[in-house]
Amino acid sequence: MLKVKQLKISYGGILAVNGIDLEVRTGELVSLIGSNGAGKTSTLKAIAGMISWQSGEILFNEVPSSGKSYELLARGMALVPEGRGIFTRMTVLENLQMGAYSRKDGEIEVDLEKMYSFFPRIKERSKQLAGTLSGGEQQMVAMARALMSRPKLLLLDEPSMGLSPILVDTIFEVIERIAKAGMTILLVEQNAQRALEISDRAYVLESGQISIEGKAEDLIKDPRVSAAYLGA
Ligand code: ATP
Repeated sequence: MLKVKQLKISYGGILAVNGIDLEVRTGELVSLIGSNGAGKTSTLKAIAGMISWQSGEILFNEVPSSGKSYELLARGMALVPEGRGIFTRMTVLENLQMGAYSRKDGEIEVDLEKMYSFFPRIKERSKQLAGTLSGGEQQMVAMARALMSRPKLLLLDEPSMGLSPILVDTIFEVIERIAKAGMTILLVEQNAQRALEISDRAYVLESGQISIEGKAEDLIKDPRVSAAYLGA
């Protein structure tokens, strides 16, 4: 579904991403892990058309990316950005409805109920202004809003960042459930252990280059990965 070939991204002449290749096949949950500043967020933003890239190619369902986020969204790519990006002055319900604004089918109510079943916590708060929610609840709203667009590919940038351990559990459980329901997901995470536990495959990004890639179950046992990223 997604193919990235020899992607290079630079900021003011400094290469942040230096020629990476990655692929996400339909139905897969793929993680991109790596330390601070490795280039994970830049990669995800380029895929979503939020920033331009220097060279290389991004194919979404075999079609080269236009680099325009609204076109990619219309074609079924939804990004949940780092720092969430929800509408703080709208209620939870309004945020979810905004996620579905371009849909013309009559199943929006059905999907709202589905989101509330994934995240019972935000159901109780559907009339509350999103800006008054806790960090974890805002993360849930951001994910639910993205899912309301019925994406083909869901891009998640550090969904566990800044959350309490219990909420981290909740978020990873929901990602796993969404993946098992058939969603194709590219997950950027610093919490490599948790990301690998739920992923099919993963890529390790180091200083703008892919250093290791493979099945998540193999990476979790790989001494290079455990020494650098799993706190072993
Ligand atoms: P983190 O987990 O800390 O977000 P990351 O792996 O997502 O890290 P990026 O945010 O992609 O890494 O950053 C990669 C490199 O590009 C870093 O050295 C960063 O300082 C630099 N960078 C990112 N955004 C910009 C920008 N807008 N202008 C200049 N440099 C940037």
